[in-house]
Amino acid sequence: MSKIEKGSEAEKFKPESLMMSYGYHPEWSEGALKCPIFQTSTFVFKNAEAGKRFFAIAHGQQAPGPAAKSGLIYSRMNNPDLEILEDRLTLWDNAEACAVFASGMGAIATALLEFLRPGDTLLFSEPIYGGTESFLRHVLTRLGIAMIGFKAGSNSQQMEHALKSSGRAERLAMIFFETPANPTNTLVDIETCVDLARRYSTKDRRVLTAVDNTFLGPLFQHPIKHGADLVIYSATKFIGGHSDVIAGACLGSAGLIKRVKKLRSYLGTMCDPWTGWLLMRSLETLKIRMACQAENAAAVAGFLSKHPKVEKVYYLGHLKKSDPQHKIYKKQCLSAGSMVSFDIRGGEKAAFRFLNSLRLITLAVSLGGTESLAEHPGAMTHSDMDPQDRKEIGISDKMIRLSVGIENAQDLIADIKQALERV
Ligand SMILES: *Cc1c(COP(=O)(O)O)cnc(C)c1O
Repeated sequence: MSKIEKGSEAEKFKPESLMMSYGYHPEWSEGALKCPIFQTSTFVFKNAEAGKRFFAIAHGQQAPGPAAKSGLIYSRMNNPDLEILEDRLTLWDNAEACAVFASGMGAIATALLEFLRPGDTLLFSEPIYGGTESFLRHVLTRLGIAMIGFKAGSNSQQMEHALKSSGRAERLAMIFFETPANPTNTLVDIETCVDLARRYSTKDRRVLTAVDNTFLGPLFQHPIKHGADLVIYSATKFIGGHSDVIAGACLGSAGLIKRVKKLRSYLGTMCDPWTGWLLMRSLETLKIRMACQAENAAAVAGFLSKHPKVEKVYYLGHLKKSDPQHKIYKKQCLSAGSMVSFDIRGGEKAAFRFLNSLRLITLAVSLGGTESLAEHPGAMTHSDMDPQDRKEIGISDKMIRLSVGIENAQDLIADIKQALERV
C-alpha cells in the first residue's frame, strides 16, 4: 500500500511533501519505490467484460463506481505515468483535475478549441506568448472566432472598453491572459478578469477565464484560488525545470478537465510516458529550484538596479507601493519569481555586446530551467510582433531578458558585471 492515498489525509501535507509518493502504489510494480515508466501503447484487459466496461466508462455511457472501476485502455486515452503526474500537479494549484500535454501549446490549443465556437469572442491580454498569438491569429480567426486584445496593466474600465468597442461583447466566451506578462513583468489582475467574465455570463452561457500561469506557477501564483476556471502551463519551463523536455498542463474543475481530456484523446496532444516520468522526477525538486531561482533573481535585480549602464529594471520585487501594480502583486503573487528584464544604455548594439560577452549565463530563449539564460526580446522572442505594438508595450532594442537559474548568485552577478564592463 502507498503510505498516502489519493484524496485521504493527503490534504494536510504540503505539496512538496507529497511529490515523491502521492498517487502511486509500489504494489503496482513489484514493490518498486519509484513509479516506473509504463512504456506501453496498450493495456491488457482481465476479461472481455472488463474491456467493455472500461470503454463504456471512457465514453461516458456508464458512471464509474466502487463496483465498476474504470481502467487503463490505450496510452492516447490514459497511462499511469500521466495519471499520477496529473494527480501530483493538482496539489500545487489545489485543482480538482489536470490534463498533461506534449507541449504548452498542445495544452493551450486543446483547451481553446474545446471551449470556443464559431462566432464567439475571445478577450486576451497583450503581450502574449508568441506561439499563442500565432494560434489565435492564424487558427482561431479561421474558425470565425473574434480576437480582442487588451494591454496587460489595463484596469477594469479599459478592459471593458476594449471589449465593448469591438461590437462583439455579447458573444464573449473566454478571457485568456498571461500574468506576469513576458518580458515586461506587467501584471494582469486575476480577480478583475474573473469579475468581468461573471458580469458577461448568462444563465446558460458561462464566460470562462483561463490563465497561462507559466511564469510564476505552480509555486508562486494560484489563479484558481482567485476564481479562475482554467490554469495552463508550459511545463517545459519551471515544472520540467531542466531545459530537457517539452510538455504542458491544463488544470481546473473535474467537469471542465473531463472535456479537455476528451478532445485531447481525439487530437492526440497528450504527453508520452517517458515525458510524464521525467516531469514527476522534476516535481520532486520544484519547490527548492523555484525558491533558489527567486532568491538569485532578487540578488541579480538588486545589482542591476544600481549599475550605471542599466537604465531600467523590470522586476516584480521592485514595484513601488504607489504603483497600482503593487496592489495586484500583493494580492495574487507569493514571490517575485525569477524573470528579470532590463534596459541597457546604448540600444541594440550595447545589448548584443552584453549578450555576446556573457560567459556563465547562456544566450538562449526559453526560461525556468536550472541554468540562467539571457536573450533579446526585440530581436528574438518578440521579433514577430507588430513594431508599433512592441513599442507601446515597452519592448525596445535596449531590453534584455534574464531567466535566473540555480547557480551561485555571486557568480551570476560577476558574469553580468564583466559583460557590462565590455559594453
Ligand atoms: C513557452 C511558453 C508557452 C509554450 O509552451 P511550449 O511548451 O513551448 O509549447 C506558452 N506560454 C508561455 C508563457 C510560455 O513561456
